[in-house]
Amino acid sequence: MSGGEKPGLRFECTQCGRCCTNHGEYSHVYLGDREVAALALLLGLSEREFERKYTFIDEDGWTQLTIANDQCVFLGPNGVCGVYAARPVQCRTFPFWRDFVEDGKWTVDVRDLCEGVGRGPSWSRDEAERLMIEMEGSDPDS
Ligand code: SF4
Ligand code: SF4
Repeated sequence: MSGGEKPGLRFECTQCGRCCTNHGEYSHVYLGDREVAALALLLGLSEREFERKYTFIDEDGWTQLTIANDQCVFLGPNGVCGVYAARPVQCRTFPFWRDFVEDGKWTVDVRDLCEGVGRGPSWSRDEAERLMIEMEGSDPDS
C-alpha cells in the first residue's frame, strides 16, 4: 500500500477482521481458477484437495471459500489472514470496490463496515481505480 496525490481516499487496515466475517451480502469470497491454484500452492495441497477442504459450490455454480462459525475459514486470531500471501482478489482489493466509492468519497455502507476507511494514508485516484478494475475483473458476474 502506498499514499498518493490529493485528494484521494484515506484507508489503513486495522486488522479488525470484520471484513472476513459474515455480515449479510458481503459474506461471500468468490474464487476463480487462479485464486484456487495460488491458495492450494500456498497450503501445499492439490487444487482438488484444497477445494474439498475449504470451498463449496454455490447455487449459481461459483466456487466460494467456506464460512464457518460466521467467519472465513482462514481468519486467524487478532484478525490475521492465514493465507495472506495468496488471499483472493476481493480480499486484496477491499475496500476499493466500485460500490463503496461515490463521487470520490467512501460510501456510508463501507464506513459502517470497515473501520479502516477515512484513516491513515491517502490513496491516489489512480491507485483506487486500479484496485477497482482488478476487483471487477475477478467478479463472477462481470
Ligand atoms: S474491516 Fe477494514 S479495517 Fe477491518 S480488517 Fe477489514 S479492511 Fe481491515
Ligand atoms: S482469505 Fe483472508 S482476507 Fe480473505 S476473507 Fe479469508 S481471512 Fe479474510
